[in-house]
Amino acid sequence: MTVQTFIPTARAAAEKTASQPSHPADLVQASFDQADFQDTMVKKLYIETQGCQMNEYDSHRMADLLGDSHGYVLTTDPNEADILLMNTCSIREKAQEKVFSGLGRWRKLKEQNPDLIIGVGGCVASQEGDTIQKRAPYVDMVFGPQTLHRLPQMLDQHHQQIEKPKSEKIKLVDISFPDIEKFDFLPEPRVEGFKAFVSIMEGCSKYCSFCVVPYTRGEEVSRPLDDVLAEIATLAEKGVREVNLLGQNVNGYRGETFEGEICTFAELIRLVAAIPGIGRIRYTTSHPLEFSEELIECYRDLPQMVSHLHLPVQSGSNDVLKAMKRNHSIDVYIEKIAKLRAIRPDMHLSSDFIIGFPGETDENYQETLQFIKDLDFDHSYSFIYSKRPGTPASELPDETPELVKKARLAEIQKVIKQSSIDKTDAMLGRTERVLIEKVSDHHPHMLVGTADNTRLVSFEGSADWIGQFAEVEITEIKTLNFVYGKLLNLESDVA
Ligand code: SF4
Repeated sequence: MTVQTFIPTARAAAEKTASQPSHPADLVQASFDQADFQDTMVKKLYIETQGCQMNEYDSHRMADLLGDSHGYVLTTDPNEADILLMNTCSIREKAQEKVFSGLGRWRKLKEQNPDLIIGVGGCVASQEGDTIQKRAPYVDMVFGPQTLHRLPQMLDQHHQQIEKPKSEKIKLVDISFPDIEKFDFLPEPRVEGFKAFVSIMEGCSKYCSFCVVPYTRGEEVSRPLDDVLAEIATLAEKGVREVNLLGQNVNGYRGETFEGEICTFAELIRLVAAIPGIGRIRYTTSHPLEFSEELIECYRDLPQMVSHLHLPVQSGSNDVLKAMKRNHSIDVYIEKIAKLRAIRPDMHLSSDFIIGFPGETDENYQETLQFIKDLDFDHSYSFIYSKRPGTPASELPDETPELVKKARLAEIQKVIKQSSIDKTDAMLGRTERVLIEKVSDHHPHMLVGTADNTRLVSFEGSADWIGQFAEVEITEIKTLNFVYGKLLNLESDVA
């Protein structure tokens, strides 16, 4: 689990400035500058984001909502905040304990400042509900991923009952699943440089035996097609060039069209690629069963589709996949990747792996190891299995010693890391398509951008090119994730 501070953009403050910068990078910088000069009376919001990109997206949304409704601006310092929000993740080991130990630190801040408001959202909140306030009574609000849009109302309710005696106060806990409502109440999307994360669906109906997502985020709900397209068109007009479509089971998207028909994920991708200005499309997280022929054909037809795919498989053993209730075999996965690589031989592949799933034998593990070698993964999110309360797998007997699991995990991570190093090394002399994002922090004549395969590429150039795509020949490998190159061509603006 990653724990990180959500970096502010202080949108509300930026909107109060008289002149709007025209360039996206200027807009971000202006937002930070504005935040630096905030009136000390301005209320400040601190958000700690745990876990996945969906949570990062949700944290941005929380900041937007409270900025729009109550004028809150973000801070990176919890000590100066008027509201502390913890956006939790329950996917990894001991998630609950990590939440409560974090809340314990915040309790000390509340003791110094009794007006401080503490809220807990995300998947742990959804799972634990009002038991969070039983264990941590200083928490003022608990909300789930599906009800974060109600934060402004919860905040109003909190203020309304501050003076009331404890016996008359109602608990502010809302972890319901109001379907699509969350998408309806969100403010306009925000420009963040040249990349944007767009949530297109929520929840998951796959019910893998180890996973809490269907219980914490609810069953799959897709945003209506027109809403998604309108949001991305707005982002493109504001300068966004790369869009990352988000959802727990993103390629299971089934959005309703204006005419009441259902649009598949592959159809959506084609429509997004047709939006002027969108030069690159990524998506996360996808499921092998939903990785359709039509989606593979998008890679054949659309240059905007990056040669980088995160397609979680979890295990390379059919026995384990069955116990995980993944509903597909290894053969299906291999066949789909073979088709994809026939179209895009340079496809970089990443996956999630759970090692030490209950009942995983040494033979099962060896199958996974061989599978990883055969498929040549570039990256992985790999972890030792940990029980998630309430999931079917948590009832399964687990007799594999912890030391064995650790050794297995270390071995597969070593194999994948070596493959990743090899792939970076293989970039030498190749031409990469790079989205130019900024001037180098250390060398003002150098630019920095991202290649399709997510490596950072630095090369000499003009700041005027920021926000454009360039073809860059790779001339030097600096680290696993950082390479140097020289400009070959600057693509004219894709718009
Ligand atoms: S497909 Fe992914 S999100 Fe859905 S239940 Fe399985 S692991 Fe969880």
